[in-house]
Amino acid sequence: MSEKYDVVVIGAGPAGYVAAIKAAQLGLSTACVEQWLDDKGKIRLGGTCLNVGCIPSKALLDSSHKFAEARDHFDVHGISVEGASIDVPAMLARKEKIVDQLTGGIAGLFKHNGVTAISGTGKVLAGTRVEVADRDGNVQVLEAGNVIIAAGSLPMNIPPAPVDNDYILDSTGALEMSEVPARLGVIGAGVIGLELGSVWRRLGSEVVMLEALDEFLPMMDAQIAKETAKILKKQGLDIRLGTRVTNAEVKDGKVEVSYSSADGDSTESFDKLIVAVGRKPRSEELFASDSGLTLDERGYIFVNDFCETEAPRVYAVGDVVRGPMLAHKGSEEGVMVAERIAGKQAQMNYDVIPSVIYTHPEVAAVGKTEQELKADGVEYKAGVFPFVASGRALASNDSDGMVKLLAHAETDRILGCHIVGPSAADLVQQVVIAMEFGSSAEDLALTVFSHPTLSEAVHEAALAVDGHAIHIANRKKRK
Ligand code: FAD
Ligand code: AMP
Repeated sequence: MSEKYDVVVIGAGPAGYVAAIKAAQLGLSTACVEQWLDDKGKIRLGGTCLNVGCIPSKALLDSSHKFAEARDHFDVHGISVEGASIDVPAMLARKEKIVDQLTGGIAGLFKHNGVTAISGTGKVLAGTRVEVADRDGNVQVLEAGNVIIAAGSLPMNIPPAPVDNDYILDSTGALEMSEVPARLGVIGAGVIGLELGSVWRRLGSEVVMLEALDEFLPMMDAQIAKETAKILKKQGLDIRLGTRVTNAEVKDGKVEVSYSSADGDSTESFDKLIVAVGRKPRSEELFASDSGLTLDERGYIFVNDFCETEAPRVYAVGDVVRGPMLAHKGSEEGVMVAERIAGKQAQMNYDVIPSVIYTHPEVAAVGKTEQELKADGVEYKAGVFPFVASGRALASNDSDGMVKLLAHAETDRILGCHIVGPSAADLVQQVVIAMEFGSSAEDLALTVFSHPTLSEAVHEAALAVDGHAIHIANRKKRK
């Protein structure tokens, strides 16, 4: 007899495991099917985010940042560090320990909440049934009241640079390099490329980033993108825009990369090459042809705003559906779907999803960019505050960048916030909350902020929207 659950979730990444926990908390009998195995052949929870994404990349970013600070910047505090060195295997081992702790933590949360973890590869059959094949070839079919697909995404490959994870690495391989390459090439100057490039640059690699587009970070506010490019170039990242890689091959222990740019065709030789050209939804072989599910033209599972697929009581969340490929976006979709299955009136605010690039300084954004508002014909006001005018940023020797707040010209409602600067990820969250509550720039301006904090830069940017900033000369006329 097949097992029955109110909810069967496929995938235990941040979209799936959160959906499963929420469903169980709401009193629904819940199973979560996951195919990932650890090196002992046991089920591994946490998905891309915990195993090979957000968490391990941040662990390496933090280790490498501390090393670069000690080597390059402690002297300004009067601290001298002679011969700072990095033990890469120790750095990787620390990262692995954190990953183990967190993935084990999800297993504990499943147990605590009564979620049944099932090891195997899930496939949606017609009639909300889920086939699960384990690694030994055993197949079982689960009867599900509802199915939530959270199968995530995979690194994108490009034919000119076939990944061998020896010399030519995807993002997973780039988290595993056991020594610092003297010369590192990175294809793609997007979010993942910049984070991984920064790790190895800080540890001493000469890093060349080859980006096909002419514009740097086109999804970001243009002023913030320009400032970010300036700061990262100062750190030694050699970012080459308008540079399309056409071939990469391993010869005599080096990777020879050919590319074309406005200057014509060229080649460069690297010790390692990271391919960071984006991610694609993992939607192949996930459902039977008679299940009623469809893919959109880009291979994502087709869903509406409530993450409902075209098959009744089958939902899909996270990277496998449209929208930004961000862990928190998937988790919130998972919560929404679990609540709707439990009969609640949940919905998601897709207009207020923050995004972050964890370089140093961080780059963070929420809402509309200035160029989007212009294109939409929205009248707006902008308030900008540079960190060089922040007492706390100067005290921390971390004063590159700025906060920019955008508000509607008439209603004063906050429309967006864009930050490059220290702790930008945490600072932008204050504006995310303000936007979620429908705040005006004046609401933020009238709020009391602790002194001295980096948050004061958000306050001053809000004040600057109407020309009321205190700690910079206001450019616009006060109202
Ligand atoms: P995933 O995390 O990909 O999880 C999907 C799970 O489903 C996997 O465990 C997979 O094994 C399983 N699965 C797939 N198919 C099946 C099947 N048929 N049966 C059973 N199981 C299946 N996002 C951020 O928000 N912040 C960051 O800082 C950040 N940094 C990143 C850094 C890197 C290097 C990378 C690669 C990604 C980063 N991301 C970051 C993106 C983030 O990891 C993803 O958006 C997030 O993991 C997506 O969650 P998900 O649950 O949809 O999918
Ligand atoms: P993201 O989607 O943020 O991960 O960024 C991936 C980047 O890789 C995009 O900016 C693409 O323009 C870039 N890219 C894709 N293919 C190539 C290529 N052949 N050469 C150089 N850059 C590329």
